[in-house]
Amino acid sequence: MKKTPFVTNDKIHEIIKEFPTPFHLYDEKGIRENCKAVKEAFAWNPGYREYFAVKALPNPFILKIFQEYGFGCDCASETELMMAKALDFKPEEIMFSSNDTPAEEFKYASDLGAIVNFDDITHISFFEKAVGKFPKTACCRYNPGGVYEISNGIMDNPGDSKYGMTKAQLFEAYKMLKSKGVENFGIHSFLVSNTVTNDYYPTLARTLFELAVELQKDTGCHIGFINLSGGVGIAYRPDQTPNDIRAIGEGVRRAYEEILVPAGMGDIAIYTEMGRFMTGPYGCLVTTAIHEKNIYKNYIGVDACAVDLMRPAMYGAYHHITVMGKENEECDHMYDITGSLCENNDKFAIDRMLPRIDMGDVLVIHDTGAHGYSMGYNYNGKLKSKEVLLKEDGSAQLIRRAETPKDYFVTFDCFDILKF
Ligand SMILES: *Cc1c(COP(=O)(O)O)cnc(C)c1O
Repeated sequence: MKKTPFVTNDKIHEIIKEFPTPFHLYDEKGIRENCKAVKEAFAWNPGYREYFAVKALPNPFILKIFQEYGFGCDCASETELMMAKALDFKPEEIMFSSNDTPAEEFKYASDLGAIVNFDDITHISFFEKAVGKFPKTACCRYNPGGVYEISNGIMDNPGDSKYGMTKAQLFEAYKMLKSKGVENFGIHSFLVSNTVTNDYYPTLARTLFELAVELQKDTGCHIGFINLSGGVGIAYRPDQTPNDIRAIGEGVRRAYEEILVPAGMGDIAIYTEMGRFMTGPYGCLVTTAIHEKNIYKNYIGVDACAVDLMRPAMYGAYHHITVMGKENEECDHMYDITGSLCENNDKFAIDRMLPRIDMGDVLVIHDTGAHGYSMGYNYNGKLKSKEVLLKEDGSAQLIRRAETPKDYFVTFDCFDILKF
């Protein structure tokens, strides 16, 4: 499928006049339409709730949109929890799915009344030491180990991942938590990332539903919810077919009716913790071509760099690129599109066929709405760019300013020796 930006060339130039490149641009309309589709897809389950994975796009303006749809948030650190608290998310709307968790963070999550998702069996006694008492509701993260296969060769290797508990540990953990006063239990599992298939959630649901039936029988624990976590992917590449959330919701419903309902467990709430699927396609990185360099290969240097978007450098991830105003021109030039870091992996694209790029051309790097800005860092003393929200009424709002040198130097806390 041809990938087109969610903004027109005229609109983007209008926005650039007010907010010079580089910046991440988010599409409020797209986010809202997707929220409605997600809600509808799981409307068959009265307890359903999406807990947006804050790490995908930790911006209060975005989280406030999700709040309007009754969504909660999934946090993995103290600052993410602080953001949830500052936005007045209710305790039951905050999931704390962390790992290798510091004691203070367990304490803070517990003070907020967030739902704690235990990543390891040893975290139960660790939590008890840190917090003293257990909440009425708790969740445990399951890792089946081995290789997890969904369909069409799509699979991942949970046996190699650091998350979750083995099946035996999980049963033990529920018994321990029950003996410590927990009354309402959840099961969580995240087995494959960025799945572009409608089968992932339904397949995972089957695994977890069968496990829930077994767990309830064996431990007598009341399973209140099943958290399918994240992993629903997006079509980064033009040749991929985007997931259909309605088909996904329907697939989960079928598994629910086949496994949970007959077991008398038809009161279980389904939770999701999607990040990428909620915001990924509704963000892009807008950047300007500032250098052309021809040596053994042809390079276009842009004014954004890997601190704005790390996925290509870190995972070799593909992000589609549109040269604005040249959408219908032939892609007859091969370029590496680079940022300015002193790291040869700072390339948004390698050997990409694009139309001829002239200096000053605006490039839209697609699908940066999740795990884009948020993965940023400050290598080379580069400062992170701004975030702009394209509102439904067509206006643009700055929802996070760009970093300034002052932000970069402030943590040294020794301005007496720094003379500017
Ligand atoms: C990252 C993460 C998510 C979100 O994953 P996506 O692939 O962005 O949907 C959800 N839950 C947990 C615990 C995570 O670490």
